Amino acid sequence: MLSLEAALDRVVSGITPLPGERVPLHAAAGRWLAQEVISPRDLPAFDNSAMDGYTVQSSALAQASLEKPVQLSLRGETPAGHAPGETLLAGECRRIFTGAPLPPGADAVVMQEDTRMDPAAPGVVSVLDAVRPWDHVRFRGEDVKTGMSLARAGERLNFAGIALLGAVGIREVSATRRPKVALLATGSELVEPGGELVPGQIFESNRSMIEALARETGCETVVLPIVADDLPGTRAALAAAFAAGDVVITTGGVSVGAHDFVKEAFEALGGDLAFWKVAIRPGKPFAWGRLNGRHFFGLPGNPVSAVVTFLLLVRPALIRLQGGNDVGLPTALGTLTTTLRNPGERRHFVRVKMDRGGQVTPVGQQGSHILSGLAEAQGLVDVPPGVVWEIGRPVEVLRFP
Ligand code: AMP
Ligand code: MG
Repeated sequence: MLSLEAALDRVVSGITPLPGERVPLHAAAGRWLAQEVISPRDLPAFDNSAMDGYTVQSSALAQASLEKPVQLSLRGETPAGHAPGETLLAGECRRIFTGAPLPPGADAVVMQEDTRMDPAAPGVVSVLDAVRPWDHVRFRGEDVKTGMSLARAGERLNFAGIALLGAVGIREVSATRRPKVALLATGSELVEPGGELVPGQIFESNRSMIEALARETGCETVVLPIVADDLPGTRAALAAAFAAGDVVITTGGVSVGAHDFVKEAFEALGGDLAFWKVAIRPGKPFAWGRLNGRHFFGLPGNPVSAVVTFLLLVRPALIRLQGGNDVGLPTALGTLTTTLRNPGERRHFVRVKMDRGGQVTPVGQQGSHILSGLAEAQGLVDVPPGVVWEIGRPVEVLRFP
């Protein structure tokens, strides 16, 4: 049996990322950048006010207080979006609003709350509190400087990155093309969800599960019809899948049973196949290969085995294919609420719930066919063979994406 790390290394090490393409920034959330992004400008682009109030020269106001207010003459106003206007002179103030540029000569902003105006003297503003230089001023370039790296190649762009790039005026990024993933489910017992079941048949549920995960991993998906357990049909379905996708993922039919045809069909098409028993539970049989530069992943049919092998071996490959560097699942530290033991010989990826306080509890049923437990869980804990972990032990949770 192959260790998970060795299997992962073989899967990801040979992957060449897909080419980049220009993507409008607003459509680039969740995409992996193919090129570093350098800022073309400073952010903020000019010194501006952090408050609604009055912009002033601070030197005259160092001693201002409620008992000894300092009076300034009011000259004009600068709303956000307006040019900075004329130079501010000593003894003057100007009404200013959040985000408006500071006029030349000004070096501070007084909050409106620290001033008073007498209706009888509308041209005079009394400052009621001491002002220090640069109070309530946001400086040019304090957020981003021209030439600074804003995002690296291989990073996944999220909402915050989109805001950052948009704020410096970038409208398009170079992102790796989305892989197209073709999904096949094999099994003569499988029926399209919502169809008519005769005794012995079950509804097919792996394709939409893997589709959801593949989309979350940035891929486009093509869902192909269910494939019965026979060699010619499996071969034809695989050929159609390779015509449709950069990546083909099948579930079922990769064990050693008399009705398992996926490996044979893939080789009959000329595919270069590796078949491993990866030393993890659930998810032991795993087929992997290449065909004309396209990638093949044959997952076990049991839904929980399929999802665990997808998360640990296929998801990293889909991320690498998009040039991503961070291929692991997000992790969180928690504390066990029950004893966890693994009497087996393989690492057990236990499905767990994790509450907001970090309390980690294995879901009740851990069978590789148990979907209710999977649906309850937020992640996996990697439990080595032969251990007994006591209540209160800190554990790392591999979180579902
Ligand atoms: P297999 O890997 O083909 O031996 O399938 C193992 C188990 O998973 C069997 O109980 C199958 O009925 C079940 N199974 C296989 N494929 C699917 C699927 N696409 N949806 C739901 N269950 C499946
Ligand atoms: Mg089967």
